[in-house]
Amino acid sequence: MHENNKIHKVVIIGSGPAGHTAAVYAARADLMPVMFEGFMAGGVAAGGQLTTTTEVENYPGFPEGISGPELTDHFRAQSLRFGTVIHTETISQVDLSKRPFQLWREGMENEPPVLASSIIIATGATAKRLNLPGEETYWQNGISACAVCDGALPIYRNAPLAVIGGGDSAAEEATFLTKFGSRIFLIHRRDTLRASRIMAERVLKNPKIEPVWNSVPLETKGDTKKLTSLVVKNVQTGDIRELTVGGLFYAIGHKPNSDPFKGQLEMDADGYIVTKPGSSFTSVEGVFAAGDVQDKRYRQAITAAGSGCMAALDAERWLEGH
Ligand code: FAD
Ligand code: NDP
Repeated sequence: MHENNKIHKVVIIGSGPAGHTAAVYAARADLMPVMFEGFMAGGVAAGGQLTTTTEVENYPGFPEGISGPELTDHFRAQSLRFGTVIHTETISQVDLSKRPFQLWREGMENEPPVLASSIIIATGATAKRLNLPGEETYWQNGISACAVCDGALPIYRNAPLAVIGGGDSAAEEATFLTKFGSRIFLIHRRDTLRASRIMAERVLKNPKIEPVWNSVPLETKGDTKKLTSLVVKNVQTGDIRELTVGGLFYAIGHKPNSDPFKGQLEMDADGYIVTKPGSSFTSVEGVFAAGDVQDKRYRQAITAAGSGCMAALDAERWLEGH
């Protein structure tokens, strides 16, 4: 239940490293933050993108690495420790045209809105899909956007599998899938990986991974129950190849989770919220943005956390004057 009519000093929307870092700072500044962590918002569990990964090896403080879900559990525990109130609900609509700002919860749009003097948006980003022919039929029956979440399922064991993409996600997912699949096709539309050097080298050295360069997927096929093959086209030669695969994993990047704010905040052409350089200020006073929803360049847990800290400090200073 939510306390009606109470105006919260800071409402944080989103629960990845940006949201939880903002929560720790805001709580320690006595702003009594309220967080809406989402309920499978954008198809991702509360805790954000790190809940879909295995080892995080580049977050300082964990020299041996730490699993993504364990790291997000730590973030949440730290927010709670300093008094953040966390609701497992998704914010579906907002009105940022006047203060206090109004926020509505998904499935409860007819109930009174949550009121906030300031808002920190830390809703992150969600994996993109290709909408190929057959994708809807075989989604979660051979097609997935998260190898780490689904790769160990029995349908993928000892089957040839395909990963689409050339970034760190594709590299990580292809490597991870070698534990389960008989052979992994890494399908990329160019002939060089975008992935960081260390991860690209790991992929290219792995004898179980076969890169399929300069190729784009055209169609998924199956036996009506599950995926059985993927048709790909070489964009340089025009050759068409049908790969027999029992699993297809998308790793083609992300869409910012900014839909509830469309038309109310300045965004770029891809829907990323625009923040004033060097700050978390958005185009609306009192609304701050942090993490991947406003960052298409760095998109790392540590940069998201850093910008969450900035948003809490910006909100604290802004509230002092309002
Ligand atoms: P996110 O982590 O995207 O979390 C935001 C969350 O907020 C959403 O997932 C959802 O639960 C919630 N939410 C969304 N909309 C709403 C709403 N309307 N209402 C309420 N709640 C909402 N980075 C690294 O530094 N190291 C790594 O090893 C690493 N590995 C990665 C592996 C994978 C597979 C992926 C996909 C990413 C990885 N990254 C890694 C990137 C890192 O996970 C992100 O940069 C980081 O999680 C972004 O944090 P964020 O706080 O902006 O939001
Ligand atoms: P990226 O945007 O980095 O890469 C997306 C890949 O998909 C690119 O290679 C792109 O091709 C390809 N692609 C995009 N759209 C299409 C399409 N329509 N058809 C075919 N291919 C397409 O996304 P990632 O998810 O890989 O990474 C996001 C962020 O998360 C990065 O900052 C990354 O460093 C980080 N990350 C870090 C990890 C780690 O450090 N352990 C693990 C995973 C992610 P092209 O190259 O031609 O543009």
